[in-house]
Amino acid sequence: SKIISGTCLKNLAGSSMIRKMFEEGIELRKVHGNEVLDFTLGNPTLEPPHQFTEALAEIAAHPPANLHYYMPNSGHVSCRAAIAAALTQWHGVNLTADQLCMTVGAAGALVTLFKTLCEPGDEVITLAPCFAEYASYMSHFGCVQKVCYPTATLDPDMGCLERIITDRTRCIVLNSPNNPTGHIYPVEVLKAMADLLTKKNQGRERPILILCDEPYRRLVYQGFTCPSIMPLYPYTIIASSFSKDLSLPGERIGFIAVHPHIYSPTVMAGIATSLRQLGYVNAPSLMQFAVERAVQSSIDMSWYQERRDLIYQAVVAAGLDCVEPSGAFYVFFKVPKGCTDAEMVAILKRRLVLSVPGTGFKAPGFVRMAFCVPLDDIRRLAPRLKEAADEARA
Ligand code: PLP
Repeated sequence: SKIISGTCLKNLAGSSMIRKMFEEGIELRKVHGNEVLDFTLGNPTLEPPHQFTEALAEIAAHPPANLHYYMPNSGHVSCRAAIAAALTQWHGVNLTADQLCMTVGAAGALVTLFKTLCEPGDEVITLAPCFAEYASYMSHFGCVQKVCYPTATLDPDMGCLERIITDRTRCIVLNSPNNPTGHIYPVEVLKAMADLLTKKNQGRERPILILCDEPYRRLVYQGFTCPSIMPLYPYTIIASSFSKDLSLPGERIGFIAVHPHIYSPTVMAGIATSLRQLGYVNAPSLMQFAVERAVQSSIDMSWYQERRDLIYQAVVAAGLDCVEPSGAFYVFFKVPKGCTDAEMVAILKRRLVLSVPGTGFKAPGFVRMAFCVPLDDIRRLAPRLKEAADEARA
């Protein structure tokens, strides 16, 4: 191309496998219509809670005077205060408006943090299986991605983590409930990680930070809870959004919250300056006012629970090895021995079922299915998944 840069062309070639599968699905649907079952994209199609729509109506009826103006880059104080109060309950650590900065989704929060925290050559540890986009978010700032591999229970392997920490380790991205696995790291794992990092921090000039990427924090299934590392490790920063718990992915509203132990006006000014310099300037104003009023509400978890129960049953009935999803809206199963994840995805595709290979999440040998789909699609998946698993084992 004579127009876009060589770097951008390279990025295009390596760009998200999930999107590619999603687009292939559109093509497949042109031929096979509704026979195609698409489990590729984690797109919450559920309506936001009524508190959110009521908040929008209230704002439209009585607009705040500064609704459409530029604002301090970190966002409206009233919004940050409401979210800080909610986070204080959820994490068990006292947070205030000063420690928050509103962002353009969790993605915008992560990019802003990498810009604020990292020097070129700094290493960022991601815990596999992990969200594929981290690599591109950190690449803008010359960060080097290091991967910590999981145990059989899909928790980070502490031995591996210890081995890959170096003098250049700047941060670890912790994502629980996890995309792509739906797994929540138990408190023992968080404690072990906090202990390891506390030990490693001794004598270091710059502590190793934990970035909690947690847009799924409140998507937790019956019988499970989602522990926080914030009370266990003071060098923690949250990057999150309302894309999933209020079902607002298209509205691009999220936040950064800095642990009180490492908070300072300079840290927050650094974050706000990065936000501006990246061209985000500030998070959308209308959305800030709306989530301020709706932050304590949440989407109807029974909608996801029903889907999770059904798809997990289908995976188990197909004889596939899978850690039960405890949160988020994904199942992540092991492909049968002798078959690769790409082959399993192809076998499923021949049955008009679209899924994503684990390789894109640094977890070859697994397949991810996102279940934000109509219940009937999951019912229709069950026999096809069983046939596909039998073929893969043959
Ligand atoms: N982090 C993880 C693990 C995700 O799964 C996603 C979106 O799917 C994001 C971050 C980005 O979230 P947002 O849409 O709020 O930017």
